[in-house]
Amino acid sequence: MINNIEIEVIHKDIKNIHLSIHPPKGRVRIATPLKMSDEAIRLFAISKLSWIKKNQKHFDEQKRQSPREFLSGESHYFLGQRYLLKVKEAKDVQRVAIENKKTINLYVKSDHSVKSRERVMTKWYRQELKSIIPNLIAKWEPLLKVEVKDWGVKLMKTKWGTCNHQEQRIWINLELAKKSVRCIEYIIVHEMIHLIEKDHNENFKKLMDEYIPNWKSIRSKLNEIIFESKHWNY
Ligand SMILES: [Zn+2]
Repeated sequence: MINNIEIEVIHKDIKNIHLSIHPPKGRVRIATPLKMSDEAIRLFAISKLSWIKKNQKHFDEQKRQSPREFLSGESHYFLGQRYLLKVKEAKDVQRVAIENKKTINLYVKSDHSVKSRERVMTKWYRQELKSIIPNLIAKWEPLLKVEVKDWGVKLMKTKWGTCNHQEQRIWINLELAKKSVRCIEYIIVHEMIHLIEKDHNENFKKLMDEYIPNWKSIRSKLNEIIFESKHWNY
């Protein structure tokens, strides 16, 4: 407990200390290397206090917005833009259509429920994100001189993307459909660079600097609104 903030400490076989904040209440967790002393952990936590407080506040703000019910009048994000949601009755197929760059029209059957509205939206987000990814991978494969053998989109709780180095496969978080194309591209490049360099080491950062010089500002933009949890060393 530091400054009235409860912190869960987990000792793990890892190289770097790792701080994360978790939903729904903004629980703070620190994962530390096995050898790290209590005093060093305490000092680390103190040095991150303002960050912790700032991000816990985000959770409070988010709680006020949520839960989403997918009803008319709510605002929803798509590719970094904010849209007003309008629920309409579907004459045939349930679908989503953007109107005037301002409105997301959600067409659902007359007996719709929160679940069914969410399902139609999620399916649409997935389709849209999946239509963007191949071009970005194709753009970066020759630049990075790597080959992505397989890729997919899934909902992840703590990561924007993952990379299976051995299988040359990358996974992109479905939540990225709500972020700008620049953010999506940054995550794809990040995961593709893992095909060259597995760890987040100096070489990894050098490669990021080389290919996306402003990656740090994109990263902070990306993490501005927390959707699930936030990691210190991503
Ligand atoms: Zn990574």
